[in-house]
Amino acid sequence: MTEFLAPELKMFRDKFQHFLNENINLNAQAMRSKSIEKGFYSISHQSTLHDGPANALEMVIARESVASSGILDHSNIIGPDPGALMNCSDEIKNNYLDPMLKGDKKASFAFTENDFKNPTTAELIDSQVIINGKKSYVSRAVDSDFMLVVLNFKPDNSRFVAIVDSNSEGISLNQTFESLDGSTHSEVTFDNVQIPQNLLLKNVQAATQNILQERLEMSAISVGLAIFTINELTANLLKPHRSGASLSDREGIRLKYSDLRINTYAARSMLYRTATLLEGYENVINEVTATKIFCTETAFNVVDTAIQLSGGESLIVGNHLEAIFRKTRSMKLAGGSNEILRLNISKGIFEFDSGIL
Ligand SMILES: Cc1cc2nc3c(=O)[nH]c(=O)nc-3n(C[C@H](O)[C@H](O)[C@H](O)COP(=O)(O)OP(=O)(O)OC[C@H]3O[C@@H](n4cnc5c(N)ncnc54)[C@H](O)[C@@H]3O)c2cc1C
Repeated sequence: MTEFLAPELKMFRDKFQHFLNENINLNAQAMRSKSIEKGFYSISHQSTLHDGPANALEMVIARESVASSGILDHSNIIGPDPGALMNCSDEIKNNYLDPMLKGDKKASFAFTENDFKNPTTAELIDSQVIINGKKSYVSRAVDSDFMLVVLNFKPDNSRFVAIVDSNSEGISLNQTFESLDGSTHSEVTFDNVQIPQNLLLKNVQAATQNILQERLEMSAISVGLAIFTINELTANLLKPHRSGASLSDREGIRLKYSDLRINTYAARSMLYRTATLLEGYENVINEVTATKIFCTETAFNVVDTAIQLSGGESLIVGNHLEAIFRKTRSMKLAGGSNEILRLNISKGIFEFDSGIL
């Protein structure tokens, strides 16, 4: 699939990869400045190829390239995505979207319910929206300036996304914790939090938009990390081994190694097909979901096997493979657990006749 990219996309990939190769040893801050200077930092809303935001394929190319260069945190190279704030009102654009894209304000995304039987709700009282509920696992909530909160609007429980300033009265961060991949999250309570009606995103697609972007992003990162891992493993296997020959000569090793390549080839093909579909089809949630499941599981299995075949050194804290193992493990739960997502794919076809092969 990557072979069939349009010439301008191949050029973008080469330029971006060249930029990464030249600057890979810079610290995070210097890398960010360089990326801003070259226009890569802002591609999610201003492509380097055309007017307007980068399309799904450009974003996939960029994210896959960062990960396949062995960089685990792309936030200093590719800035935030408009996500649910795409096509918002001028007021939201001026107060939230533009400051977020410039890096002056940070956003977090609150969708995982603490208690699924009692989801976070909103209701209209005296022309103010009142929010109540608890979200369980909001990444970067501690340093976010505002949250995008997925909620059920009473009385009919229609789903909306609300923009809520993190310092609003009634918000409390009950517990802040770090997960295996080193990221920070909080349990957040909303106790009669009031927001004006204009901060309720009436676009019912908003939540879906954010979720689709997050899942495609994880898929691209996963494929990039699988490529990086296989390249590291290949080099490790070719080195002389204390047993005499190099491990790449052993048939047992070759069988396992080939499986990693087969699955990564399949995952990469799926990623590019889905990104292409996103450009032309309205309803691709099932395809994006299938891609997230396959790519995250492939990347996790690739690094798990690569560690096994490389030996104990790769488990030393600070080793590339050890860090990738922790990152890929998290992605099987983040963005929706892969089991629940599997159920959604079946539901898509059995209950909504939606999904392609
Ligand atoms: C690194 C990381 C970052 C995250 N960031 C955010 C964030 O920014 N914002 C946010 O809102 N959330 C975030 N989350 C939370 C994430 O969305 C949830 O962890 C995920 O949706 C799973 O929910 P849960 O943890 O409550 O597990 P549960 O839903 O309790 O599931 C536990 C296990 O049971 C399985 N299971 C549950 N129900 C069924 C069923 N009916 N049939 C079969 N199996 C089932 C699940 O697959 C899973 O294996 C993050 C999570 C991680 C790990």
